[in-house]
Amino acid sequence: MNPTQNSGYPGGAAVFFDAVAQYILAQHRPLPEESKNNPLHHATILLPNYHAAQPLAQSLIRQSAQSALLLPRMITLQDWAQSLPITTKVTPDSCRAAMLYEALRTQRWFANADLWGITKELLTLLDEMTQHHVTLPKNADDFLAQLEQAYQAKRGTAMQFEARVVHELWYTMNNTGELDRVLAYQQRLAQLALAVQVPIYVLHACDFSFAEENFLNACRARIPVTLFDIRAMSIQQTHCPLVGHGVIIHAALHGTVSEDEKHLSTLSPCGTLHEQAQFVREHHSNLANRLRLFGAHDLEHEARAAELQVRRWLLAGKKSIAIVAQDRLVARRVRALLERAEVLVRDETGWTLSTLSVSTVLMRWLDALQSDFYFHDLLDLLKSPFIFSDRAADERKEVLYKLEQLVRKNSVVAHLPAFMEIAAGEGAVQTLLARLHQAAAAMQKNGGRKKTDTLAGWLDALQNSFEILGMGLATDEAGAQLLQSLQTWQHELAGNSTRFSLREWRHWLAQQLDANTFRDTNITSPVLLTHLAATGWRSFDAVLLLGCDDTHLPGKESGGMWFNDGVRVSLGLPTRQINLARQRDALLSLLTMNDCVLATWQASKNGEINLLSPYLEMLRTLHQLAYNDDLAERELGEILEVAQVRSAQFPLPVLSSMPTPAVPRDALPHKISAGGYNSLVACPYQFYARHILRLNEMDEVSEAVEKSDYGKWVHDILHQFHQQFPVLAQHKVEELNSALRRISDVVFAPALQRDYLTRAWLLRWQQAIEPYLDVQIKMELEGWHFKSGELPFELRLTDDLILHGRIDRVDGAGQVMRVLDYKMIDAGRLRNKLKDPGEDVQLACYAAAGESNSAAYISFDKDKIQIIEPPHDLGDLVQANMDRLITVFEQMQSGAALPANGIEEVCQYCEIRGLCRKSEWSIGGEQADEHG
Ligand code: SF4
Repeated sequence: MNPTQNSGYPGGAAVFFDAVAQYILAQHRPLPEESKNNPLHHATILLPNYHAAQPLAQSLIRQSAQSALLLPRMITLQDWAQSLPITTKVTPDSCRAAMLYEALRTQRWFANADLWGITKELLTLLDEMTQHHVTLPKNADDFLAQLEQAYQAKRGTAMQFEARVVHELWYTMNNTGELDRVLAYQQRLAQLALAVQVPIYVLHACDFSFAEENFLNACRARIPVTLFDIRAMSIQQTHCPLVGHGVIIHAALHGTVSEDEKHLSTLSPCGTLHEQAQFVREHHSNLANRLRLFGAHDLEHEARAAELQVRRWLLAGKKSIAIVAQDRLVARRVRALLERAEVLVRDETGWTLSTLSVSTVLMRWLDALQSDFYFHDLLDLLKSPFIFSDRAADERKEVLYKLEQLVRKNSVVAHLPAFMEIAAGEGAVQTLLARLHQAAAAMQKNGGRKKTDTLAGWLDALQNSFEILGMGLATDEAGAQLLQSLQTWQHELAGNSTRFSLREWRHWLAQQLDANTFRDTNITSPVLLTHLAATGWRSFDAVLLLGCDDTHLPGKESGGMWFNDGVRVSLGLPTRQINLARQRDALLSLLTMNDCVLATWQASKNGEINLLSPYLEMLRTLHQLAYNDDLAERELGEILEVAQVRSAQFPLPVLSSMPTPAVPRDALPHKISAGGYNSLVACPYQFYARHILRLNEMDEVSEAVEKSDYGKWVHDILHQFHQQFPVLAQHKVEELNSALRRISDVVFAPALQRDYLTRAWLLRWQQAIEPYLDVQIKMELEGWHFKSGELPFELRLTDDLILHGRIDRVDGAGQVMRVLDYKMIDAGRLRNKLKDPGEDVQLACYAAAGESNSAAYISFDKDKIQIIEPPHDLGDLVQANMDRLITVFEQMQSGAALPANGIEEVCQYCEIRGLCRKSEWSIGGEQADEHG
């Protein structure tokens, strides 16, 4: 096949529609006057789907040779049946599921199991039993005996349990006096069979269900019913070069073309593969120009091949391209690649509601409720564009930003009242939190979080909470469908009085969202994503069959957790073989109706051989034997390889050198803290990221207590302590010790409530209390006394620059002042920092601001408390550091670059590492050095 060849529609598919049209028209001659007894427009054509309506209508008009024609009714059987009213009440599936769940919960058969999952499985089984008119014996023991025989095994606990569950639930669910969906369909079909007066023509591609077969048989007794089975038609017109290919497809997929298959043609006796190949050759049934097979190395290779082929078809002018996805994983990747190439894809299969962003906001809301507004859930919820849609987007973003800052600054982990407390004074944030509180109350009416309610009651509460939260779902197409679904379920379940906990309801809701799909009807594109079962009687300019390995074609349907195939046969239920036959027939229809098909699969997976679908393997083998052509698509692989070589020659840019940004003049700050100055000295890029880009403002919320929290508490404790006891010598040591412990307990209390591990930090601090008192008393003996603590300062250095900060403590000895800074760092590290003048700037800044003649760190290292002073003259240090700061700011104003040149000791604690990507360019630099 030349994959870019345009078949020149209508091609092969039109032959089938024309054949149908000719037959129908022949039954309704004369035209155009229309037979009085048997007018064409009174006939009904039953379609497998509405896509077949247009080509059939075109064939009818073409074959009639009339300029105008009153067309017959074309409808699917489901829609036709649905148009008939029935008087008995129909119980919706949602109510049946609730009833079944309640029965399972009462019986306690499945302790700690996923009851909604079991409910779904059981409902499917019960529906199948209804569909196939299965009647169970009245007596449970008789049913058990039936199972015993079918399993050909003696009754054991598992079999008895299975028999009891199915028997009991079947009778429970069938004694309501109401119809379910399946029974209602059967009743409608029975009524329709009695009412129908006109000839029926049926287009079909696979076997009918039991009820539909019954309906057609009942109709046949009164009116003409004609079936057009694509499986038979595919080999009836072997003389036609356009459809002669049907012979090989049929031979490969059905394994034989024999007289035994009553509904099919009687072309040939079956035989060995070689005999079948000979037969295929005699009928010139060649697929070379219609079907190609592409075996990829892996998923990415398959996806890229598929994307490339779709684009080639588009370039060749194909107007309708179907991607038939057997493997949804590959399909998702192909879709992403196509969208990257700006080719939109119409998705006929749709997205389950649970995967949509409109459902995400719903689930985030429930997450937040259930986690007591855990900050991640809360912030995630507030980031959704759907919540508080009655406020301007900018306003919402600003409030969210403020709240996020507050949360991160105060490390509040959960609990709405705690967020309200930290937001005191922030009106807009408070309003938002109050609405959340009100919405939570709406969900928790009648008694808090432990309450139970009916499914409809929960849905009603959800709707109320949505109104309070200003959920703007209605303006979004998917959101509108979600709201509609919620309302439908609420309406359907209004009469159900079973009560469920919030957790049970939420599980139910998640299952509902998983079971319902949304189709985006706004996308117009020649490329369509669909599934095999939806392709009956459809033709496209080109078809890409994705994921055709033996795992996905045929797909392995488990058949549910109840009964094996032997039991299913004995009960009269369809077996796995019937499901497989449906897939095979759908493939036959697809290959018959379409004359440009590329099937792809991953020929290897994780280094292992991955087999082609047995259907396509058979086709390939027959074709190889008949025509010495294994149908392999080779050209596509070669083009892909060339494309790969090209992309290797032009690799994507990587950040391969140290970033050195310059600060735009107007972005340069006019204030710098002592910490900021330290960062500027340690690594200019770190300063740029933290203080120009302000990335430091989004600190991580510490859920567990960290060393920085410990430092803050120690600062707080010592400040309170020295304010109460400015001169220690005036008090007994025991009094000081117990006072310090008391203050410590108060400061640590909130964190202890939140995190048990805080106790370890408290113990660590308690070990330091005595040594600290010893050091402080010793300092007093040297003449130093506490003057003030936590002293904010602003020091103007130039017209454009202010140095600001907070001094932990100022002590005095006569006229001499000393600034002190508490550090939770060991003395050795502090000495190292101070060794090189200018490396550590903090003490110099505080000394400048406090106009002090002395400065020191107080090092807290477990129970070791030490005073560490800079080894250099403080006056010189202050002068040099202030001069340098002014100069650096002038340089930045002139556009000087800020390189990421932190030393390893700084880098290992740096949170900006991910942004500066030191690991990439430093390794690149090392490699360059090695090669250079
Ligand atoms: S990781 Fe090192 S080089 Fe990168 S920004 Fe931080 S301190 Fe600078």
